[in-house]
Amino acid sequence: MTEQFQHRARKRFGQNFLHDAGVIDKILRAIRARPEDRLLEIGPGQGALTEGLLNSGAQLDVVELDKDLIPILMHQFGNKPNFHLHQGDALKFDFTSLNPAPNSLRVVGNLPYNISTPLIFHLLQNANLIRDMHFMLQKEVVQRLAAGPGGGDYGRLSIMVQYHCRVEHLFNVGPGAFNPPPKVDSAIVRLVPHDVLPHPAKDHRLLERVVREAFNQRRKTLRNTLKALLSSEEITAAGVDGSLRPEQLDLAAFVRLADKLSEQPIAE
Ligand code: SAM
Repeated sequence: MTEQFQHRARKRFGQNFLHDAGVIDKILRAIRARPEDRLLEIGPGQGALTEGLLNSGAQLDVVELDKDLIPILMHQFGNKPNFHLHQGDALKFDFTSLNPAPNSLRVVGNLPYNISTPLIFHLLQNANLIRDMHFMLQKEVVQRLAAGPGGGDYGRLSIMVQYHCRVEHLFNVGPGAFNPPPKVDSAIVRLVPHDVLPHPAKDHRLLERVVREAFNQRRKTLRNTLKALLSSEEITAAGVDGSLRPEQLDLAAFVRLADKLSEQPIAE
């Protein structure tokens, strides 16, 4: 970077810039962008991934919050016809404004850790537009996203994301790949929205409610944690053993509980 464009990494924007060429290349190979792809990069920063994404020939929209990075990005990539820059908050960005075809958008980002979970949920509101997502996240968050029933990593995040997506923990990245190095380990995850939901709930909001309630006190039995929502008889009628703890239940069982809740008459 030239003297004129010195940028000091800002903590409040979660800025840990990738500088390890080997890691950058590994991420780009995992994404395998093609000229016909429609890419969206969240938080391009100083362009560590952006350059390789643009070189694929694909159309690339990027959303960057830090105004000071805009001239740097324009200087580097402004002359590329496939580069489209949006300054703003990705959490408020309306992805439908890009008019992507169904199942086409490929989302990429080395995400600031403080926005990673809300951003994934924001994107999943339009899961039908998304072909896949590749994110660098805190390793612990990737482990929670990918976890199956039975362990301590399994919880609300695993269930609500796996409801929409297949999750693949691709590889881990150590702090030394970033400048400045973060205090935690990172990992790359691939999320692929299901073409057809494997376990569709009658009412998605009820699934959210049951899962939230169940994991509020994850050490207690379902009969106990869900008693404000479902009776012991209703839990059994949903084909679920009420003496289990929430972390022992798979997605299909949570959907059966939510569907049982949807059968209740609405209170006057
Ligand atoms: N992609 C670059 C890289 O790998 O070196 C930068 C990654 S850095 C971890 C996160 C980037 O996201 C920063 O450039 C930061 O300014 C940007 N950012 C932070 N919050 C954001 C938000 N809400 N919307 C869009 N970009 C954001």
